[in-house]
Amino acid sequence: MTTNGSDYDVVVVGGGAVGLAAAWNAARRGRSVLVLEQYELFTQRGSSGGAERQWRLQYSEEDLARLTLEAQPLWRELEEAGGRRLVHHTGSLWFGDTTEATNEGMISDAAKVLERIGVTHEWLTAREIQDRFPFAALPDHYEGFYQPDGGIADVKGTLWLLHEQARLAGVTVLEHAKVEEIAPDADGVTVRSGRGVHRGQHVIIAAGPFAKPLLAPLGIELDVHLFQMTSASFRLRDPGLDLPTWFAFQKPTEEDTNLFYGFGRNPWSGSDVVRAGPDFEDHVVEDPYLADNAAVPRHLERLTEWVGAHMPALDPEPELAGSFLAALPADPERQFYLGHAPAHVPNAERLVIFSTGWGFKFVPLLGRACAELALDGRTGFDLGRFGLV
Ligand SMILES: Cc1cc2nc3c(=O)[nH]c(=O)nc-3n(C[C@H](O)[C@H](O)[C@H](O)COP(=O)(O)OP(=O)(O)OC[C@H]3O[C@@H](n4cnc5c(N)ncnc54)[C@H](O)[C@@H]3O)c2cc1C
Repeated sequence: MTTNGSDYDVVVVGGGAVGLAAAWNAARRGRSVLVLEQYELFTQRGSSGGAERQWRLQYSEEDLARLTLEAQPLWRELEEAGGRRLVHHTGSLWFGDTTEATNEGMISDAAKVLERIGVTHEWLTAREIQDRFPFAALPDHYEGFYQPDGGIADVKGTLWLLHEQARLAGVTVLEHAKVEEIAPDADGVTVRSGRGVHRGQHVIIAAGPFAKPLLAPLGIELDVHLFQMTSASFRLRDPGLDLPTWFAFQKPTEEDTNLFYGFGRNPWSGSDVVRAGPDFEDHVVEDPYLADNAAVPRHLERLTEWVGAHMPALDPEPELAGSFLAALPADPERQFYLGHAPAHVPNAERLVIFSTGWGFKFVPLLGRACAELALDGRTGFDLGRFGLV
């Protein structure tokens, strides 16, 4: 393949949250960086669509809880670089069946981890939850905790700011540049995209839910499932009311996981409309390129029913509904893949791969880790168990 002429220290495949964070981190270390994005920046077709994400410290796995603590100063650093708040600490409320093991973890285990690592949280009964927050008709045995440092991350603000910082640090971004082939050799990596042939010393692949088809020709199999995740927006009936971010852990029904989550007002928009969603990982998507942003009707119906039964502060008629594509490792404890390409790939050390899980809360840390793996061959973060074999 003949290249377009420019050689870069780092080529990043994917202009989503992690790709932009990786590009910024490599460029501010003085390296030349090219980002290739198959659609346009800020696309809704990947996993960084929509307006908000839950930001939380609690995890059932202690290393992940510690990782959120490590991510905190990196969020502050990004916010300070751009002069804009991205994570708003509106509090995080988890409640329900406290010993139910779910794809999001378990309330009682997460509370134990918070104890161990010394993070403040307040244990609450169903009555106390309903007295303090706008939930109703919760089963009497429900309990949970409120963690005041959790909250809500501003997705569009983060993407915009990362792009701005990357651009200021000299990163080149090519949109509508779908990468079709990645070929590492002893001297570098050749990358063929819809916009030409490019050459980098290292390639960071942050392709989100599209990683599988891109990696398959290299003989790399990610054990990742793709799901279309529905959510909807509901109007708050009382403009004086607000909510923390929340997650309801419940025993599964015969049809689905019976898990629901949601947000309060977006502090950056001040809107009276808040988002909620079912966490049902059952609408499987085989080919990410065939997914759309439509709501799954059965999921929307279940969500509307739950909101109607337990959230009297909301008008249960959704104002907007849609879906985004999530890529989740088959092993829920793994959360994401991050590391060099597996050793069986020739010149594996030239490729760094990230995909994707519930990763938004870690974005600045993941970007830093990707850049370190590419430029230094190792990262100072304890991410070894997320590596590819
Ligand atoms: C519905 C939903 C709810 C979520 N909730 C939370 C939450 O509450 N808290 C949390 O922490 N996380 C959450 N997440 C996860 C979080 O949003 C993702 O982990 C994160 O946004 C992933 O960013 P990314 O950059 O890895 O992937 P993406 O944003 O998908 O970016 C990948 C980019 O790569 C591009 N690309 C792919 N293939 C190619 C190619 N061949 N050539 C060129 N470009 C390519 C894509 O077009 C895309 O722009 C949620 C995700 C979803 C979908």
